[in-house]
Amino acid sequence: MFLMKRVVFRNLPYIGAVVTRHVRGQQQKSECLPAWPPCPPPLEPPPFSCCPPPPTLYPPFYCCPRTKYDVNFIYINDIPPKTGFRDFVDRIAQTLFWTELIRGFAVTLGHVFGEPATINYPFEKGPLSPRFRGEHALRRYPSGEERCIACKLCEAMCPAQAITIESEQRADGSRRAVRYDIDLSKCIFCGYCQEACPVDAIVEGPNFEYSAATREELFYNKERLLTNGDRWEPEVASNIRDNHLYR
Ligand code: SF4
Repeated sequence: MFLMKRVVFRNLPYIGAVVTRHVRGQQQKSECLPAWPPCPPPLEPPPFSCCPPPPTLYPPFYCCPRTKYDVNFIYINDIPPKTGFRDFVDRIAQTLFWTELIRGFAVTLGHVFGEPATINYPFEKGPLSPRFRGEHALRRYPSGEERCIACKLCEAMCPAQAITIESEQRADGSRRAVRYDIDLSKCIFCGYCQEACPVDAIVEGPNFEYSAATREELFYNKERLLTNGDRWEPEVASNIRDNHLYR
């Protein structure tokens, strides 16, 4: 009894579709609806055969608009149900033998033994490209000397005007930055500062975990940038080495 009910209720939409198709067929047999205005009179033919045809004032099918049943629609998601006898029997067999249930279990079982698509962040992390542009850092030479020579190319290049540099001359005659600020709330991570730097001092490292609760926390000064550089130097150096593959 339960199965009989299932078969009947399950096929109700398809039975409905058969009935609807029949009714639509009857409708299509009739011509235009009588309430619709008559077609406009044909336009005058052009005086010379070389003239282009006069522009039509009315859209096609003005007097007898097409309905969706007159046009061959391409169904993308909404596939109309098939109403043939074979499809009908197929659907009954699917209902009786619960093949959908078995197929669903098979899909689940297949995924149980497959590799999971998710990772357990933050304990697991996905791979990063060597060209990844993350948190900024200022690098040092292996001797501990700062790389930045305060040429201000990055400041000039920055489209967001996020960088502010002030420089001074040291006792040995070299020029160094006394102030190097980046406003990361303005930064668009275009990487131009890294590209412009002639000594690979300012880089965008692989760190992407530096979320902040306030805007002030995104104002990076020189000390913070140098600390970042010291922390991420191995990864940054490796990324710069790998980057030559893309140039
Ligand atoms: S990544 Fe672009 S926007 Fe950000 S500081 Fe560098 S140059 Fe400016």
